[in-house]
Amino acid sequence: MMVSFYRPTRERFKILIEGNAFPSDQYAVASQARFHGYDPKEAIVRLMPREGEETLRPEDILEAVERHGKQVALVMLGSVNYLTGQAFDIGAITRVAHAQGCKVGFDLAHGAGNLKFALHDDGPDFAVWCSYKYLNGGPGSLGGVFVHERHAHSPDLPRFEGWWGHNKATRFEMGPTFDPLPGAEGWQLSNPPIFQLAALRASLELFDKATMEAIRTKSEKLTGFLEFLLNRLPGGFVNITTPKDPKQRGAQLSLRFKGEPKRLLGRLSAAGIICDFREPDIIRAAPAPLYNTYLDVFRFVRTLEAHALE
Ligand SMILES: *Cc1c(COP(=O)(O)O)cnc(C)c1O
Repeated sequence: MMVSFYRPTRERFKILIEGNAFPSDQYAVASQARFHGYDPKEAIVRLMPREGEETLRPEDILEAVERHGKQVALVMLGSVNYLTGQAFDIGAITRVAHAQGCKVGFDLAHGAGNLKFALHDDGPDFAVWCSYKYLNGGPGSLGGVFVHERHAHSPDLPRFEGWWGHNKATRFEMGPTFDPLPGAEGWQLSNPPIFQLAALRASLELFDKATMEAIRTKSEKLTGFLEFLLNRLPGGFVNITTPKDPKQRGAQLSLRFKGEPKRLLGRLSAAGIICDFREPDIIRAAPAPLYNTYLDVFRFVRTLEAHALE
């Protein structure tokens, strides 16, 4: 997507990202900047929380987009930050960035199947996601991509072309000239892995049946319940770094524990609870509304409590 939507010029060559973006995103933007002949140290603008704070204030994000805007070719943020669990306002960021003349893309890896989106109405130029987190596609499953309709019929937009993006009616004529399918399909490179598609399809059928609306409604309650129980644990044992506002988060809470998080993780896994650890001291817990229950959340916190009281 950056081949098409990161088109740096001498005046406008920067990429604005979150300071603690997922490694792949950081490598992608740095390598794209270098590919175009720019030094990532100058080309990459990183949004950092204020001194002593864990997450970005929404108004600070908008302010930074405005401040750097005229030099920014591409604003590329997560929808939910993988580390802090903070969700960003796609519509508001897109409006401010477009007013500055920037292109805007979102990485929905932690958003797909977690939050409800209105990508067309919110208007980012593109979005990308993997399908092996909330969408249950399994490791190595397909990536997804959204390209805004305003770019649907832009065959001249530069892209790296592959045969699967070619007009279906003539794809198998194997001609030498690329004729892109309109819309996101025109960015496809090659034919998809069929077993992964089968797994993803089975999962998406469940999502369709449950509806994102209902999933999100339960998710807010489930994560709210987790937060409520965590806040009743002995003082100082755990610190929730994810924003309290349900609009600024999805299912995940990022937790910082006193003591040795790895010992705690061992104890949790012995109790059949799978959390995830990020150096140096963050444990991420994400009750997935599709299959986690309120009782699961209760058991998780009771295990933490037993550990805290030791
Ligand atoms: C998991 C994740 C990725 C990685 O996706 P791959 O399909 O493994 O490349 C990228 N970005 C973010 C924000 C992620 O959380």
